[in-house]
Amino acid sequence: MLTRGEILAWLRERDEARLQELWRRADAVRRERVGDEVHLRGLVEISNHCARACAYCGIRAGRSGLPRYRMGPEEILGCAAAAARLGFGTLVLQSGEDPALTAAWVADLVRAVKAATPLAVTLSLGERDETDLALWRAAGADRYLLRFETSDRSLFDRIHPAPPGRRSDRLAQLRTLAALGYEVGSGVMVGIPGQSLASLADDILLFRDLDLDMIGVGPYLAHPETPLGRPAGGGAPAFPDAGGDQAPSDELTACKVVALARLACPRANIPSTTALATINRADGREHGLLRGANVVMPNLTPPAYRARDEIYPDKACRDEDVETCAERLRCRLAAIGRRAGSGRGDARAPERLRAGPGAERCRCP
Ligand code: SAH
Repeated sequence: MLTRGEILAWLRERDEARLQELWRRADAVRRERVGDEVHLRGLVEISNHCARACAYCGIRAGRSGLPRYRMGPEEILGCAAAAARLGFGTLVLQSGEDPALTAAWVADLVRAVKAATPLAVTLSLGERDETDLALWRAAGADRYLLRFETSDRSLFDRIHPAPPGRRSDRLAQLRTLAALGYEVGSGVMVGIPGQSLASLADDILLFRDLDLDMIGVGPYLAHPETPLGRPAGGGAPAFPDAGGDQAPSDELTACKVVALARLACPRANIPSTTALATINRADGREHGLLRGANVVMPNLTPPAYRARDEIYPDKACRDEDVETCAERLRCRLAAIGRRAGSGRGDARAPERLRAGPGAERCRCP
């Protein structure tokens, strides 16, 4: 098992030959534990309305000049049909924190998708009450994604202000989701100003402690229309960096976190993220897949909405139609000796559940 010291040493490693060893180990664990299939999850960004003012995010509340949209159920069902037609196993419904997506509306939508397609449904709708999460689970939602963004609590509070009178507790929500029987995904951005490599090592240990089913990590990409991404003027910066230990927001560091996440959580489904593909359009996607990742999330949001859903600028694949994008993706997978997964691509059961009676920490009856 990787120690914190070893994780930190890898995060600081610059030697190409040594890094090849990290990539080789992560790829071997990926092959042995989750195989060569790359699960495709169709992502639909169903609303870019958001009540929160996250300092990093391009769809934050209060950003002026951004046209807002909210898709209707019929449009979303059209995207679900496209996902099924393209052979994807999962539909991911993502949005800003949008109170107009009421609990009942989302539950009806989940039921409709499940009735019309064989797809697994993943929700990524931000921080919500336990009653909403329970309702959606009962309606058939399979998985939930909620990144904790950073395990450094004071950095999190700076970049992710809580709504008035409430404390944002993403770790509590992740535990609630697991108790409700969701497959649970979380993750972080890599290279947030103020994020140290030491705290990134803690993030990876937290992935392991949470025993995550899915882990999404990508480089932080500065958005010029946000407080965190705005070029600093004169005076003291509002978001100082972490000095000599600042985590770089580059492809290499993001790949290291993907690889270390694979070593820390061998059974997890780990996407090679759009942010990684955006920072290196030529082969960022492939680098992720060759360094521990086993999932890709092609964007199925209708093109008319896509430019408006800019959580960060210049997202990869933004201007392609879904058929072209899916076709090209399959070719790219074949070129690196991988193939698109069939079926839903559910997470493997945790070791403790698979090991059977008598095993340590066994929860079986
Ligand atoms: N409102 C939902 C979905 C957010 S979008 C939620 O908060 O969970 C999904 C992820 O995109 C976020 O969790 C964050 O990690 C990432 N993201 C947002 N802004 C980003 C940026 N500027 N650069 C890189 N990743 C970003």
